[in-house]
Amino acid sequence: MTQPKDPFGWSKRPYPRLFIPGPTEVRPEVLQAQAELMIGHRTKDLEDLFAAIQAQLRRLYETKYRVFVTASSGMGQQEAAIRNGVRDHVICFVNGAFSKRWSEVAAGCGKRVTRVDVEWGQAITPDLVADALRTHGPADAITVVHNETSTGVLSPVGEIAAVVREIAPDTFIFVDAVSSFAGTRIPFDEWGLDVCLTSSQKALACPPGLALAAVSDRVLERAKTIEGRGWYFDYLLLEKYLQRNTTPSTPAISLLRALHVQLTYILDEEGPANRYARHAELAEMTREWALSRGFGLFAAEGYRSPTVTTVANTRGIDVGALNTFLKSRGMVISNGYGDLKNKTFRIAHMGDTTREEMQYLLETIDEFLGG
Ligand SMILES: *Cc1c(COP(=O)(O)O)cnc(C)c1O
Repeated sequence: MTQPKDPFGWSKRPYPRLFIPGPTEVRPEVLQAQAELMIGHRTKDLEDLFAAIQAQLRRLYETKYRVFVTASSGMGQQEAAIRNGVRDHVICFVNGAFSKRWSEVAAGCGKRVTRVDVEWGQAITPDLVADALRTHGPADAITVVHNETSTGVLSPVGEIAAVVREIAPDTFIFVDAVSSFAGTRIPFDEWGLDVCLTSSQKALACPPGLALAAVSDRVLERAKTIEGRGWYFDYLLLEKYLQRNTTPSTPAISLLRALHVQLTYILDEEGPANRYARHAELAEMTREWALSRGFGLFAAEGYRSPTVTTVANTRGIDVGALNTFLKSRGMVISNGYGDLKNKTFRIAHMGDTTREEMQYLLETIDEFLGG
């Protein structure tokens, strides 16, 4: 009997190689950074680390503003944006599970929420946003998810921001870029965003546990006038400590070290432009593969994600069986999200995945389809 090929040794690993849309595969060098000796958090060592990360994040976000780093998952920063930037009314655009969640977070914070839904698989467009602002405005902010991980749709956030700035200059633009940041370019200042948040465990390819958020000056100005900002995610408190390169409460020191190693790699070894190009190439490769094998693509044409492809299961394959087969080879992909389970499946190409690794995954799926 011939052994199945195993070019990366994945079938011998205790856990499968992740092709799911978060957490993503973390490089050994980044994992190992977490094993360094512990330090006190009120030390110069910590401040130096925090300052270095801050400078790196401003480069990656292309911003002159600050980037808050909190020990939480990304959802913590969804809540922070609402608490700090919304006095009363927020318009939440919903085209999938994570954008829906943001509307629930806003309602949970006691704000008045106008929810504008489009069909899953569709993008949030500048025209839709313009209409909603005219119909439902004024609003303190809008929320939009850049890359809906549940559907594989990328919405044109730069164009949306331009429209909001024109029609409703006092309305803040809050963007969830959890599964797109570090996988595609997000020039925060050029686009005129107000909050752009992300998590460590998606395209950044770090372990979960950190949330990052670039925040504009005008949000901090408004935060001064808003009651009930809470404590843990109070932007003004975070800002006060950030000025001294530290955090109000104990930071996740090991995770910060991992993030620093990974940001150094992204910025100074791979380079952001190469990283974005690689994501675009892997996405293109995955889409071509899906179509040429007789599957469909769930996301609307023109808005397909560079970091995760939602394959429409038009062949009606058994997605569970596919994943069982893949796991026997040391890999795993994701089934469709919620109601889209089995009707779609998701192949993530975010993080540090190479062309060769992607090729091998697709070949192995072919093997399953052929058998
Ligand atoms: C994963 C994800 C989230 C949730 O992030 P957590 O870090 O799990 O809180 C929110 N939004 C999007 C678009 C996501 O992909």
